[in-house]
Amino acid sequence: MRRSRAFIPTTKEAPSDATLPSHQFLVRGGFINQQGAGLYNFMPLGKIVLEKIRTVVKEELDNAGCNEVQLSFITPISLWDRSGRSDTMGKEMLRISDRHQNDFVLSPTNEEAMVELVKNRVTSYKDLPLNLYQINTKFRDEARPRYGLLRGREFLMKDGYSFHASTEDMVREFDLMESTYKKIFTRLGLDFRVVEADSGAIGGTGSKEFHVLADSGEDTIVVCKSCDYGANIETIFESEEEVDALNEKSYEELQTKQLDERCTCGSDLSFKKGIEVGHIFQLGTKYSSALEANFSDENGKPKPFEMATFGIGVSRLVAAVIEQNHDEYGCVWTKETAPYMVNIMISNIKDEAQSTLGEELYLKLLGENVEVMLDDRKDRFGFKMKDAELIGFPYTVIIGKELENGLVQIYDRKSKEKTSVKIGDIYKNIMELI
Ligand code: ATP
Ligand code: MG
Repeated sequence: MRRSRAFIPTTKEAPSDATLPSHQFLVRGGFINQQGAGLYNFMPLGKIVLEKIRTVVKEELDNAGCNEVQLSFITPISLWDRSGRSDTMGKEMLRISDRHQNDFVLSPTNEEAMVELVKNRVTSYKDLPLNLYQINTKFRDEARPRYGLLRGREFLMKDGYSFHASTEDMVREFDLMESTYKKIFTRLGLDFRVVEADSGAIGGTGSKEFHVLADSGEDTIVVCKSCDYGANIETIFESEEEVDALNEKSYEELQTKQLDERCTCGSDLSFKKGIEVGHIFQLGTKYSSALEANFSDENGKPKPFEMATFGIGVSRLVAAVIEQNHDEYGCVWTKETAPYMVNIMISNIKDEAQSTLGEELYLKLLGENVEVMLDDRKDRFGFKMKDAELIGFPYTVIIGKELENGLVQIYDRKSKEKTSVKIGDIYKNIMELI
């Protein structure tokens, strides 16, 4: 993409309610903009990042044998009446009526709809197991939409649902999804923990959450210093007041608090702050029983499906990457999430040698399918460099005055180091880096 043709409206000013770096930098970097409370538009850069995350999620799920579907976002209220959740979901569920006074819901999650889809289509134990997922819009009328993409009202979620003939098989799939989610978050370049969790309004018999570690996280988790153990404090402390009080505390304040308990492995436990980016649940037969979704077992007897459900906050992940990877100047994207890997900066567009080299390198990298931006704008070098830092391209090739000596520089966004490279070596060096 040529920067002179791109729609990337970067700004110096962050919105006044933006307290977190991801919110500030994603708006200032021209990735997203706010349409209303908890409602966001994705502009070209934001859309590229969102699609990249979606692709990683899809590739890993498809590898694990899941089937992608897409359900209608608007669901009839009658579905929710049957499971009893039209009462229990409360005000987060936004209801609408059509011109004939039929009532609908903007889907906050899709257990009921997915059970209806499978019911009477999957009738025998021979058709099981089955794992269906979608990556689709959700709407939750959150009491306090805030922190940009981290807590929106409309957001993109991957929601998956699996159907089984036995509890053992459901638990097998639950474990498979846990390892698949670990692959997804590892590929995205995130530092995360898997923790025991509370199942909340979704219900069921057991659940785990995936938390991206970040001081700004809304959740407080306890993790072991040596082994893999981790738990959301919601599962450890019984009183809601105690949980709320700990969640209110900053990461620094929590470090002064001692846990009196030790991990079963004998090591020390410590408090961390996390952003919940995934949640997997063992549901059992809660929804299949309520919605009378049965299959016939080996003896021809009808039985409700054993189910599990699996969520990932796809749009929340865009912000979670930045909460974990930023500095005072802007975004530092990981390799799998960067909107463009390489930015070619022509320092002075009026300098013919600089322009020619920039164009040549740009076309060569494009030819190799490298995600590359050519900064061919007339603006001053300093301005363009600040912009590149705000956006967070992993590498910027600076074509400037040193060209007279046959040199250009490669700027590494993460380490902030500049390395001089001979013109003849740029292409090779770039290909080695990315
Ligand atoms: P939270 O505790 O953060 O409100 P939740 O437990 O209600 O989330 P789930 O029902 O488990 O959320 O939804 C699956 C995933 O969807 C979550 O792990 C999270 O990553 C994402 N998610 C949930 N609510 C929001 C939201 N308001 N904005 C963006 N992503 C969200
Ligand atoms: Mg959750």
